[in-house]
Amino acid sequence: MSVAGLPPYDDANIFARILRGEIPCKRVHEDAHALAFHDINPQAPVHVLVIPKGRYVSVADFAANGTDAEVAGFWRAVAKVAKDLGLEAGGYRVLTNMGEDGGQEVPHFHVHIFGGRRIGRMVPRAEG
Ligand code: 5GP
Repeated sequence: MSVAGLPPYDDANIFARILRGEIPCKRVHEDAHALAFHDINPQAPVHVLVIPKGRYVSVADFAANGTDAEVAGFWRAVAKVAKDLGLEAGGYRVLTNMGEDGGQEVPHFHVHIFGGRRIGRMVPRAEG
């Protein structure tokens, strides 16, 4: 089902290709509901992406159309990945971008985990 503001799921998106094994990734975790791997362009000492295995374009799509098992499994995987990476004691940030204003580049729902240093302002000052 499509979500307002975003086109329907595109099976050619880069994370779909990573899920299918067509493109390599530096995997840190995989289970029935989630795949986690290092971001190709890290913005912090630790910058990991966590994606659900299902075909969801955004957090809105995932929340509306994901099964309870998928949603629970995904978020448990996010916290487990952060813990397994040793980030729990020092803290970390979880972020998702949604649509145009959110600056979402890849149309397969994902969250970013940032850690390993003080991450700074929650939202950068507006440009211009
Ligand atoms: P968005 O802006 O959609 O929230 O974030 C997309 C993220 O995916 C960016 O941080 C970008 O660096 C990352 N990315 C884009 N292509 C690839 C790729 O082929 N491999 C990996 N590991 N990360 C990617």
